[in-house]
Amino acid sequence: MIPATTFAGKRVALFGLGGSGLATARALVAGGADVLCWDDNPDSVAKAAAEGLATGDLRQAEWPGFASFVLSPGVPLTHPKPHWSVELARGAGVEIIGDIELFARERMAHASAAPFVAITGTNGKSTTTALTAHILQAAGRDTQMGGNIGRAIMTLDPPTADRHYVVECSSYQIDLAPSINPTAGILLNLTPDHIDRHGTMQHYAEVKERLVAGSDVAIIGVDDSYCAQIADRLERAGKEVVRISKRLPLTDGYFADGTNLMEAVHGRYERIAFLEGIGSLRGQHNAQNALAAVVACLKVGLDLGEIQSGLESFPGLAHRMEQVGRAGRVLFVNDSKATNADAAAPALSSFPRIYWIAGGLPKEGGIEPLRGFFPRIAKAYLIGEAAPAFAATLGEAAPYEIAGTLAAAVEHAAYDASRDEAGEPVVLLSPACASFDQFRNFEVRGDAFRAAVAALDGVTMIGGTR
Ligand code: ADP
Repeated sequence: MIPATTFAGKRVALFGLGGSGLATARALVAGGADVLCWDDNPDSVAKAAAEGLATGDLRQAEWPGFASFVLSPGVPLTHPKPHWSVELARGAGVEIIGDIELFARERMAHASAAPFVAITGTNGKSTTTALTAHILQAAGRDTQMGGNIGRAIMTLDPPTADRHYVVECSSYQIDLAPSINPTAGILLNLTPDHIDRHGTMQHYAEVKERLVAGSDVAIIGVDDSYCAQIADRLERAGKEVVRISKRLPLTDGYFADGTNLMEAVHGRYERIAFLEGIGSLRGQHNAQNALAAVVACLKVGLDLGEIQSGLESFPGLAHRMEQVGRAGRVLFVNDSKATNADAAAPALSSFPRIYWIAGGLPKEGGIEPLRGFFPRIAKAYLIGEAAPAFAATLGEAAPYEIAGTLAAAVEHAAYDASRDEAGEPVVLLSPACASFDQFRNFEVRGDAFRAAVAALDGVTMIGGTR
């Protein structure tokens, strides 16, 4: 745990007692703060009280006495409208911050040289975070990974000069971290998403920009116009900006040429790393993630040999184009995280011959946006409520069957793929649907896919259940 010592002796209000809220409350108490905790859910309040945290309805609290208000990132700060606790804090002129801010202050106070990589963007955050942490760890660096990726930041080990932090930040977390100042800040990409919580695309982009604006080096994916403009603006303001592109040969920066990762200096190119043969980093989207991780690792002092070897041993993240098994030439891939058409596109674009398991609880637009990939579909196996609608969209464009359940789909797809002459036929679960009609969540759906693959004859499984 990181005790929040910069709050010693201060009165702090805290709202939001989920996992990260509780961890933050404990860190504040350990640092010597006087914390009053609350949540709209009485069960969460009871749980906090049971472990000895001071709880009390913040509606009745003496707000002017608080030095800070610590808010969980899941609670609305601005949109659709500020939470009542936010209104109270604002009314009393109390600063509103989150756990990443607590970490940033702690690092500045005790180990400002501790290498700190922070990652944001619309897509690819978790992959880039996990990959960066993996490369550092594989190179023998003391590495701590947390934030939005699932581990509350204040549960990590306290900052020391040579301890490396790799932190995934959602826009909500950035909004609550006014002094975030990473050594290397990564902004991968920006596409309209979560606009409900940010009001407009412009506000969403402004929040994301703050992470790179605060960093010593700003690593920015310039393949979309929002990020390209942010890179230009920060550079004009005197910030050190490193541009990355998954498709354009840049004059200066880092770009992907197929599976080769290139460095460009004044229009001269040199290969610095490669992804050829790395199953966990297939596809152009992963080239973007890998470029960001590579540049961040260079900035915190790794050499190219260490970086290449970390890339090659990256196991990938569960449920995101995760290779789960092989049967002869057939590869089984779990992309259960793809809960809509946009999220399924990267996987469909990454394999040339696909036995595609799709369906579940349909999202608006169905699979129409994926039409361009239909020629790659050797056959589709449709499951769940979406099956009839997906069948209608596929029409004559690709063969399909209504398999109904995931288990039947895996069995039929595996059989058909085993008779395919292609070099590497892929049985791909990339449902383009939510899972809730048949599964509790996408993780449970992905685990069911893995189990169904493991039950097939002649399959060698890859990796364990993470
Ligand atoms: P996030 O943490 O931002 O949600 P993940 O790393 O968990 O992102 O990846 C989720 C999905 O987003 C992946 O399965 C893939 O379909 C897609 N994806 C990953 N990286 C990128 C990227 N750089 N650009 C676009 N899509 C991506």
